Amino acid sequence: MDRLAREELAASFPTADRDPPVFDADRRTVTLPVELKAAYSAYMDAEWFRLQLPGSSGAVGSAILKWSVAELVLGANPAVHLYSAGPAFASVVWHNGTRRDKAQHMVDRRWGSTMVLTEPDAGSDVGAGRTKAVLQDDGSWHIDGVKRFITSAEHDLTDNIVHLVLTARPVGVAGVGGPGTKGLSLYLVPKHHFDIDTGELTGSATAPS
Ligand SMILES: Cc1cc2nc3c(=O)[nH]c(=O)nc-3n(C[C@H](O)[C@H](O)[C@H](O)COP(=O)(O)OP(=O)(O)OC[C@H]3O[C@@H](n4cnc5c(N)ncnc54)[C@H](O)[C@@H]3O)c2cc1C
Repeated sequence: MDRLAREELAASFPTADRDPPVFDADRRTVTLPVELKAAYSAYMDAEWFRLQLPGSSGAVGSAILKWSVAELVLGANPAVHLYSAGPAFASVVWHNGTRRDKAQHMVDRRWGSTMVLTEPDAGSDVGAGRTKAVLQDDGSWHIDGVKRFITSAEHDLTDNIVHLVLTARPVGVAGVGGPGTKGLSLYLVPKHHFDIDTGELTGSATAPS
């Protein structure tokens, strides 16, 4: 990992720093520099992300080892560390989700992931978030709200990006109106919907507006 950090990961840092991601507002896409993509692929292909993943995803290594590796990646190329958070965020789904196989798809397919809390009037005061979740007839939830400052929310590194929307309150459920963070629920909002059994993308993208 030390060699990987000093060579492949560090190599792209200066170019990626000078050549930032490109946001296309019409197509709603973000294109990353090729050098950064190469560093990201080198790190993911080495599979250090498996350290400390729960269940069948890995469950090897200690916290000290995991964070020592993180220190090397952060020192060489912080963007690689942030973009590669998918498997770690899959652990959150594994521990808290109603279907653990969703977490397995996130790891096996190396999808990106984000944490989605902050709103224009709810940053430090997370519990002030106004995003609502409305249960639909098919068992899914319609999420309605405005989020901002979401790290890695769009990029072209992975086939899918799974957004972990923490701050939303389910409408019509007793006892979820606060105060503060009391009653906030965690929703999984994939950029592309996927087949829960196979993990195959079903093609229908979620449509943030
Ligand atoms: C680089 C970056 C990446 C981020 N990534 C994410 C992400 O991935 N997901 C996500 O959900 N959010 C993300 N955020 C948002 C981040 O969590 C918020 O910016 C943070 O919580 C502060 O909220 P705010 O910006 O609304 O500022 P505010 O909460 O409005 O704070 C503004 C100022 O007021 C001060 N302040 C606030 N409350 C009090 C108080 N009660 N008493 C005294 N002073 C106070 C603060 O210290 C600050 O100086 C990111 C932010 C940055 C800068």
